[in-house]
Amino acid sequence: MQNPYQNAMSQLDKVSKIKNFGDEFIARLRIPDRDVRVAIPVKMDDGSQKIFEGYRVEYNNALGPYKGGIRYHADTEINEVKALAFWMALKCAIAGIPMGGGKGGITVDPKSLSKSELERLSRGWVKKLADILGPKKDVPAPDVNTTPEIMDWMADEFEKISGDKTRATFTGKPLGKGGSEGRGPATGLGGFYVFDSLRAQVGLPEKCKVAIQGFGNVGSNAAHIFSSHGHTVIAISDSKSAIVNENGIDLDALEKYKKETGALKDFPGAKNITNEELLELPCDLLVPAAFENQITSENANKIKAKVVLELANGPTTPEADEILFGKNIPVIPDVLANSGGVTVSCFEWEQNLKGEHWSEKEVFDKLLPMMNDAAQKTFEKAKENKTYLRMGAFILALERIQAKM
Ligand code: NAD
Repeated sequence: MQNPYQNAMSQLDKVSKIKNFGDEFIARLRIPDRDVRVAIPVKMDDGSQKIFEGYRVEYNNALGPYKGGIRYHADTEINEVKALAFWMALKCAIAGIPMGGGKGGITVDPKSLSKSELERLSRGWVKKLADILGPKKDVPAPDVNTTPEIMDWMADEFEKISGDKTRATFTGKPLGKGGSEGRGPATGLGGFYVFDSLRAQVGLPEKCKVAIQGFGNVGSNAAHIFSSHGHTVIAISDSKSAIVNENGIDLDALEKYKKETGALKDFPGAKNITNEELLELPCDLLVPAAFENQITSENANKIKAKVVLELANGPTTPEADEILFGKNIPVIPDVLANSGGVTVSCFEWEQNLKGEHWSEKEVFDKLLPMMNDAAQKTFEKAKENKTYLRMGAFILALERIQAKM
């Protein structure tokens, strides 16, 4: 797999050629403030001990405490976490929230652990990193394979170690345990708001045919939200299979089917396709909502979507970006498109610190103008600098971070 950190740094190279930020500032952004790797010993259910590798990267805190999710995946490693932390720093700046960029992870396939092993591992990550965490220092959140329940274990462990009772050190917690209304759908909803704000400007029709890669938290919420606004979700995939139905997929029936069979394959009325085929389908909007490096120099030429909305982090490589730009396919970049998640995480942090609880309506009413503003400012920056949207978003973020530094 292409090294995501190299991809991130090559994006930084690109933006520094479009706008002169000064060599010192760019050099400063090449290295995270701190990257920590820890060994986490876990007592397994059979009495043996296993050691897992955990990470926390604190990239930049010019705008506020480090903020970013924790990923549990067998392929997670330090370069991935560094890239994600760098993008988080930009994302918080673009969304206009008072947070810096960080990210964490553990190299583990969580499905291989029992629930109690997973809890000991999650608490173990906090034990090793508690010193650098805190509501005013570093505020982690969920990412791939980390759930509200895991965030609750982590918040509880942190409270035991630090005595801090605000619960503001971890976001994405369950409702009733300091979680915010609306955090579940926030990334998908924020992505929809960004899409809706830019739809006409990127030349899309009022009602779009949408193909979505990934059916986890982000992908499934996005699918429901697009569909409830009258768009047609024609294709969906998960890690095992992909399906297409030109007339639209019944999402509630698909959820039920996946629960029963564990897969999307052979869903009645839809055709089985491969994940590669899903990316190459003719449609209005392609939404990668799974992992990095999905649109690469290998397949970018075959993309037939009119626009790409990146809800995953880093799904398009820098080489593919150039190819899509050449083909006149606008890419609404991750650092803008999926910033709704961290924005509602920031709302959760604020509610915890103030001892408040906002209704879902209040949360969404605050989110919408922020996403509109981020989308339109990104569009303006791209236009002003005669570049594509990702570079517009980078310029917006770097200007804000540089002004603070
Ligand atoms: P998740 O674990 O809930 O879901 C991931 C989904 O991707 C699953 O449906 C899985 O089956 C699928 N998948 C895995 N490999 C795949 C492959 N090769 N092809 C197609 N599908 C595949 O994770 P999530 O929270 O939905 O995160 C998805 C992406 O969104 C990640 O890049 C994450 O960093 C990004 N993101 C998440 C949030 C958030 O709030 N959860 C916020 C911003 C960005």
